[in-house]
Amino acid sequence: MNTEEYIISLRRYFHEYPELSFKEYKTADKIEEELKKLGLKPERITETGIICNIKGNGNKTIAIRADIDALPIKEENDIEYKSRNEGIMHACGHDTHIAMLLGVAKMFSEEKNLKGNIRLIFQPAEETPPGGAVDMIKNGCLDGVDYIIGQHIWGNKEMGKAFIYYHEMMANADRFEIKIDGKGGHGSAPQDAIDAIYISAHLVEMLNTIVSREIDPQEAAVITVGTFNSGYRFNVIASHSEMSGTVRTFSKEVQEKIEKRIRDILNGLKETYKIKYEYEFLKGYPVLINNEEVSKIIEKNAIEVLGKDNIVYPKPDMGGEDFAYYLEKIPGAYYFLGGGNREKNMFSPNHSPTMNVDEKSLYKGSLILKKSAEDLLNK
Ligand code: MN
Repeated sequence: MNTEEYIISLRRYFHEYPELSFKEYKTADKIEEELKKLGLKPERITETGIICNIKGNGNKTIAIRADIDALPIKEENDIEYKSRNEGIMHACGHDTHIAMLLGVAKMFSEEKNLKGNIRLIFQPAEETPPGGAVDMIKNGCLDGVDYIIGQHIWGNKEMGKAFIYYHEMMANADRFEIKIDGKGGHGSAPQDAIDAIYISAHLVEMLNTIVSREIDPQEAAVITVGTFNSGYRFNVIASHSEMSGTVRTFSKEVQEKIEKRIRDILNGLKETYKIKYEYEFLKGYPVLINNEEVSKIIEKNAIEVLGKDNIVYPKPDMGGEDFAYYLEKIPGAYYFLGGGNREKNMFSPNHSPTMNVDEKSLYKGSLILKKSAEDLLNK
């Protein structure tokens, strides 16, 4: 079996047996088994997190990271390697990340003249904050590492293309929770009540003015209210409401301003309508900032593997990703790999029940990582 076939067969295995965040037990067992078959010595450093050192001649160490968890989604693809774990699916392509990194492991395990060390990081729970990266770092996955690289595949980005970001790549992904307490009453007598629905609807509108009226238009920011629940019955004035949402930013200043302005608005509503409120702003994954030099090394190898015309330089993405935690500690870079193929009817976004990728992209992804790691060793 050549490396490409090896990667594809493993990808199909992991696709068939997806596991949720922090519960990737069989996934981790299989990864260890494959690494051992290659003559390598994996180490379990968290319950389902693995590192594996490949030693060469030299002091430098380059880490390459793959995330390994799946999502609570029922797969709708009609494929022979469809998920066998009911209600769980590798809908974010982490099955391909594992397989591509094992492909890198295979290639390096056959390499005689490695000018330094490679550390493979198989990280649990990218999908579920606080994420698996924090624990992996706490348990030493970056100790002695000089640079780290990683990649993410996308079902709705075209196969054969790579997406390079020199600096900011993904956003601070924060969450807020708000509870409003008014005063319930009869639907016919608003004068005796404090209507939590009316006031909360007003709040949703006011939240939307923060980005449009208070943030520099040159700065990127998003506030989305994702849940809003209130009410009991058509003729009852609701006493209570709850909402939650996400805030995406790229700078600490904008992040802090939004956190504060939400509180200011709530204080205003409290004063005006005599409500009580609870407000929590929960910081999630931090902004992901690439090191330009490392990004350029990935770019160079992506050009070699995919061709110059297939490199795309998008604006930063408003998504969040816990790879950011590694980049807070050491220099490195992340990039996106296209996996979609419209002709094969594969172009669904990640996290959708029909997400699937053209497996022809996988060997290329492994090669880009491998060559970039070698360049970093030689740097
Ligand atoms: Mn993902």
